[in-house]
Amino acid sequence: MLLQNSCSADTLRALETAPAMFLVLSPELYILTASDLFLQATESLREDIKGKYIFDAFPDNPNLPDPDGVNNIMASLQFVIKNKQAHIMPVQRYDVPDKSAPGKFIIRYWEPLHSPILDQNGSISYIIQSVRNVTSEFLSKEEALKSQEERRESLKQVDALHQDLFTAYDNLRNLNISLENEVLNRTRELQQSESKYRNLIEYSPIAMQVFRGEDMTFEIVNASMLRFLGKTADIIGKPLFVGVPEIVGQPIVEALYKVYRTGESLEIYAEKVILERNGLKEVGYYDVLYRALHNDGKITGVLGIAIEVTPQILAQQSIKESEARFRTMAEGSEILISLMNEKGKLEYLNTAWVNLTGWQQENLHDFNWEEYIHPSDLALVEENIKNSLKAHEPFSNEFRLLNKQGEYRWLKIKGMPRLNSDQLFVGYICSGSDITREKQRLQEIESVNKALIRSNQQLRDTNIRLLESEENLLTAFNAGELGSCSLNLRNNVAEMSEQYRHHFGLPLKGEISWEMVLEAVEPEFLDEVKTVLENAAKYGSPVDSTYAIRHLVTGVRKWMRVVGKVYQGADGSNERIYAIVMDVTAQKEDEQRKNDFIAMVSHELKTPLTSVNGYVQLLQLKARNRDAFDINLFVDKIQTQLKKMTTMINGFLNISRLESGKIQLNRSRFDLSVLVSNLEEEYAAFVSTHRFICTPGSGMWVAADEDKIAHVINNLLSNAVKYSAFNSEIYISCKLIDEQVVLCVKDTGNGIQPQDIPKLFERYYRVQNEKTSTIAGFGIGLYLSAEIIERHGGKIWVESEVGIGSAFYFSIPYAPIADWMD
Ligand code: ADP
Repeated sequence: MLLQNSCSADTLRALETAPAMFLVLSPELYILTASDLFLQATESLREDIKGKYIFDAFPDNPNLPDPDGVNNIMASLQFVIKNKQAHIMPVQRYDVPDKSAPGKFIIRYWEPLHSPILDQNGSISYIIQSVRNVTSEFLSKEEALKSQEERRESLKQVDALHQDLFTAYDNLRNLNISLENEVLNRTRELQQSESKYRNLIEYSPIAMQVFRGEDMTFEIVNASMLRFLGKTADIIGKPLFVGVPEIVGQPIVEALYKVYRTGESLEIYAEKVILERNGLKEVGYYDVLYRALHNDGKITGVLGIAIEVTPQILAQQSIKESEARFRTMAEGSEILISLMNEKGKLEYLNTAWVNLTGWQQENLHDFNWEEYIHPSDLALVEENIKNSLKAHEPFSNEFRLLNKQGEYRWLKIKGMPRLNSDQLFVGYICSGSDITREKQRLQEIESVNKALIRSNQQLRDTNIRLLESEENLLTAFNAGELGSCSLNLRNNVAEMSEQYRHHFGLPLKGEISWEMVLEAVEPEFLDEVKTVLENAAKYGSPVDSTYAIRHLVTGVRKWMRVVGKVYQGADGSNERIYAIVMDVTAQKEDEQRKNDFIAMVSHELKTPLTSVNGYVQLLQLKARNRDAFDINLFVDKIQTQLKKMTTMINGFLNISRLESGKIQLNRSRFDLSVLVSNLEEEYAAFVSTHRFICTPGSGMWVAADEDKIAHVINNLLSNAVKYSAFNSEIYISCKLIDEQVVLCVKDTGNGIQPQDIPKLFERYYRVQNEKTSTIAGFGIGLYLSAEIIERHGGKIWVESEVGIGSAFYFSIPYAPIADWMD
């Protein structure tokens, strides 16, 4: 008996080194042994698990919320024990305890196959749990290559095992033949050995087959191999091309026959084989070992061992394809694409990078960022990448980098973490672009912004100044009673300041049309005003026009001067007139008075001059005729006329002196009451038409220019005489009131209308009425008097009532003691 409910030590040892992952279990599910590869994959030691109940050695991962490994495996094993048939389980998660961290488990996915090994009596000797660690199918390319290497090693080991087995088998057979006649028992042993060999193949979890003869008849094909081939045991005893017709013409057949012909073993890796399974042709990849079988030194057949590597190859292919896709994309892209490993070292740069920097892919191993990044940006970039590498988080950097022309370019590089199939961080895939132009634009925008802010500030300041100057202008306009207006020449709409409206009596608010303005203009000036406006509109001529208006509300006649300028629009046409208007009534009236004055002066001067002329002609006539005449009489008359003229001319001269500031005051301290008494006496002596009543007071001391004060009193007295009836009284008085000496000349004459009173002291002003029209005068007497009194620091005024009389006053400071000059 080879096995009786347990495995022989030899068999177990042979199984332990088999190049597959499996556990050997007793029918009671105790671990008899495990293959080296199994121990490796589950990170366990043989002495730790040997003799243990399978589920004590490999319990469920208690950290999983709902572990089902133990249950599923148990169900499969029970099926095998009950039916004495192999059972393939679907992919099963079954984590293995982590030796390095007690209590922790390592994630693993398996594809378990439970195969019963029966003894000659058909009882289960032991159960092989063979497993495939499918976690590795998702391993990276490097790991796939490593696993290929491992498989190569496994195949070699399987081959070695079978070599040994065959050697043993051949030896036994040879021995058997040589001892054929000797020991029948030996024959039985041989049969047992053959059976053991056959069993080993048939129940091996590794796909195996034995071909015999030229036509490669299937002699042994185990379950795993049948699964690969997609066939049933019917093919046993059939030639290869009959059992598996789709294999005809495939390279694997050539390899098989080569081994058969040459006797040399062949190892083929990742061989593509197309097999028909369930009526469908399927492509699979296999690592295959063919070894020739000999008998009596002759090749009699071939042993074939196969391990399916389709998932690994497909995974590799898809990695290759995706890598190729990535590279094609990366190389054709203008985006800067690079790969960085988990330590931050560059592994790959695309053409866009090479074009920009001139760095070569093959020199990347000794490449140093620090040499190329701008010193001001380096620390930040390094810090950022260091932190991102630590946290496995995405990063984004903006920095300057030297290009191949030795110029710094601004780059923006983003890095996304790269994870392998186990979700482990393996570095970054980075993409980026040259943002120099954007940066420059940004800087330009920033500097434009700064300039804008500056000019905004200036604008604000200018606006404030403008507002101030507008206010100043308005104040100045108001102070000068200047109105401003702008007239739109296209629609005749006028915009006017309040002062302007005020001057014309226009509504103080609301739109004003030019026609409304024209309504105020006196008819005799309408044509002139219109012509000025037309010339401005047509030729852009400046406006300067003085005309009379009648105030639209009060009806008072006023003189206005309008000065303006024409402004042209963008199209060069005359668009608008800006003008200021001022009330020049006073000037106009002054001018009028001046004209009247000149006319009167001419007339008044002409009268004595005509008299003088007449006397001189008479003198000439008398002299020529030698007539006797009293020359003194003529000379007196001429002198009287000349004196009149001199007085008149002196008066005018005084005005011009006064106005040019040349009048000097020769002050002295004198008693005004004395001066008044003297003057009254003179008048009383020479003027018999009126009665003078004088109350001069006494001690009316003033510090003044006596001649000029006498001139003022003279003027007041002569006016009182001129503007009152014959035989009426004229009162002269002098009083001291509040440290002021107040003089009064009062008559009982015509009196003065109230509206004329404020104007009496203006230059050339004369009251115009029937009575005054016959009285000679120049309208300068009161004007001169007022000037003289004001220069003395005094005041002059009048109180008058029409029909009752007028009282003219002046006051000058009282100077009681002689220190007035101090
Ligand atoms: P003139 O007497 O030469 O016209 P004045 O300057 O002395 O000039 O006087 C100005 C005007 O004041 C006079 O024209 C006159 O109408 C008025 N006036 C002056 N004195 C009197 C007065 N005593 N009574 C009435 N009107 C007077």
